[in-house]
Amino acid sequence: MKIWNRARSAIAGAAVLLLALNACGSNPATGQQSLLGMSEDQEVQVSKQEHPKILAEFGGEYKDPEVQSYISSLGELLAKTSERPDLPWKFTVLDTPQVNAFALPGGYIYITRGLLALASNEAEVASVLAHEIGHVAARHSAQRQGRSTLVGLGAALAGILTGSGEIAQIGNAIGTGYVQKFSRDQELQADTLGVRYMARANYDPEAAVSFLRKMQGETRLRALEAGKDPEEAEQINWMSSHPRTADRVEQAIENAGGKKVSNPIVEQDIYFSKIDGLVYGDDPDQGVVRGRTFIHPALRFEFEVPRGFQVINQPNQVLAQAREGDGLISFGQAKVTGSLRNWFLDHPKAQFEEVERIDVNGMDGATGVTQGAVNGQKADLRVVLIRYDEDTVYQFIFATPPGQDRYSRAFRETTYSFRKLSRSEASGFEPQRVEIVTVRSGDTVESLARRMKGEDKLAEERFRLLNGLDENDRLRPGQKVKIVI
Ligand SMILES: [Zn+2]
Repeated sequence: MKIWNRARSAIAGAAVLLLALNACGSNPATGQQSLLGMSEDQEVQVSKQEHPKILAEFGGEYKDPEVQSYISSLGELLAKTSERPDLPWKFTVLDTPQVNAFALPGGYIYITRGLLALASNEAEVASVLAHEIGHVAARHSAQRQGRSTLVGLGAALAGILTGSGEIAQIGNAIGTGYVQKFSRDQELQADTLGVRYMARANYDPEAAVSFLRKMQGETRLRALEAGKDPEEAEQINWMSSHPRTADRVEQAIENAGGKKVSNPIVEQDIYFSKIDGLVYGDDPDQGVVRGRTFIHPALRFEFEVPRGFQVINQPNQVLAQAREGDGLISFGQAKVTGSLRNWFLDHPKAQFEEVERIDVNGMDGATGVTQGAVNGQKADLRVVLIRYDEDTVYQFIFATPPGQDRYSRAFRETTYSFRKLSRSEASGFEPQRVEIVTVRSGDTVESLARRMKGEDKLAEERFRLLNGLDENDRLRPGQKVKIVI
């Protein structure tokens, strides 16, 4: 959760507009006629409009001018080799631990700091940028809104109390609401074009394959973190918005044949020097998750979710979801003027019952229940408002299938676990960072993993993932590796 809470983001935005426009244009990268194309001016216009919304949705710009300008120059270099070199290309690193990248039609391309932490060299990042440039160059318009990947929560919750602004904002459940899915053919085409641009800029196209393998490893690690079976893990990353496999990318490289790059650029040293110190995982300024507890040191509060719930921290809200999918908690700021109790009684859209005032660790609160919908399915909703200070009211929404009360006690415990943090409790939360270290003789995967943040049970898996090491790979003295400290 960001301190600035200008939530109201536009899930719909670009995609809807894309489908509404009906001009014809020919595709500069493929020569095909595209029916849903926009004029270049329209494309750029859409990008400009959507840019601030994307920033709001994905944590804002990552505030490190050196990293930003590095990625911009790498992106520009690749874009200049595309069929649309003259677009006003713009490359932005987003301040989110998610591993993702995507493009708007007018040449606005986004890549997350989570993705940069995962990549091991310039060529891998180039493969991601080149793929996105491919979508833009080929004028792929998304065919439909991407379905959010977490048990279909996506735009779902927007259905709750239709039209009620304060609550509707939980619609952007997973932050993938924005990210559009392309067709299989479009993905293949973006890969083929991406390989073409990489070869033209003299990067090793095989980096596209090694990076996709890392993405698979990332999905696996996330599943382990969440206590899920890696085989059943759902992807919430670049692979989910751009579904493809390493085999298919190999195919794209082969298709590009004859474009073998001699002395290809990989550039690990330069890349490592740029990402040394990169923020890794949650930034405490946006709140941190410690097990079942969500702590916001900057806004100075914490609360604990029920056992079996997984916390997902997003720019404009915190979500917690029951592993079985039969319970959901949304937490965020609410716009309430006047008495909390009256907010329930005078609500223009919803009929609340059992409205009562409560005291939450010395803070004034109120609660009520109503019916709504989650993902088009009827749901019972309990809404809790808590007045943190004169200007700030926080809101919990607890959702379950109708008539199910197995979490009612747990939800009450979560409500009353909400408390203010003292200044000293709120201090001492430093972000974790990527650090580049040189392997010395005697260092092993185990010994270096132990140097990573203390309580990380998955330190060894994380170390192997960040460094692209298989189970049997050993370290050599002099080799540079990433650790998280
Ligand atoms: Zn793609």
